[in-house]
Amino acid sequence: MTAVNDWLWLHPLPVSPLSHSHLKPSHKRLIHQHKNKPTNKTKNKTKKKEKKTRANMDGVKSGRDIMHRNSKDLCKETVKKLIFQSQEAKKQSYCPYSKFRVGAALMTFDNTVFTGCNVENASYNLGLCAERTAISKAVSEGYRSFKAIAIASDLCEQFISPCGGCRQFMREFGSDWDVYLSKPDGSYKRMTVDELLPASFGPEDMSMKKVFNIPNEY
Ligand SMILES: [Zn+2]
Repeated sequence: MTAVNDWLWLHPLPVSPLSHSHLKPSHKRLIHQHKNKPTNKTKNKTKKKEKKTRANMDGVKSGRDIMHRNSKDLCKETVKKLIFQSQEAKKQSYCPYSKFRVGAALMTFDNTVFTGCNVENASYNLGLCAERTAISKAVSEGYRSFKAIAIASDLCEQFISPCGGCRQFMREFGSDWDVYLSKPDGSYKRMTVDELLPASFGPEDMSMKKVFNIPNEY
């Protein structure tokens, strides 16, 4: 019956109201329903479509769009290119103290790429990681929805892994997007932000139920 309902909805019967006269009242209701009122299934489809469109349009506004995994699986060529861009960014590294060069290339929901490198400081703890530089550049340009970030370093025997602070920084913009940990030869390991930071604390937790509301004076 559902299949027939769908067919009727998609193909309204090409008949005049008068020609309904030979139909039973229940059939008339069915046709009326399909011509004028979407079924739950159709409503859901439309809602999903609207949500998807909204997600695309709001990409610059809501990091939570990342939760919806919309074709974020990059093809091999794109991954290769993103890693290459992170390697190029590494060349800009300012690391006179650690001599540890890191580069990052971040791909946004609309395939724009922002790169970053680590930027150290004589006051050591002010140093910035490459990942945070790239993400901050993107956010400052209006992007909050990301598909992937590639990270490059000079470590030749292991894949460069983001520090804890950067994992949390990535998590701010969703946990279901990809991080490519690479080696200088271009080989890589793909992990999601959630895999890198399981059971994480994120922006959603800020609005979760509390035992009581903190009074204003705090
Ligand atoms: Zn870091």
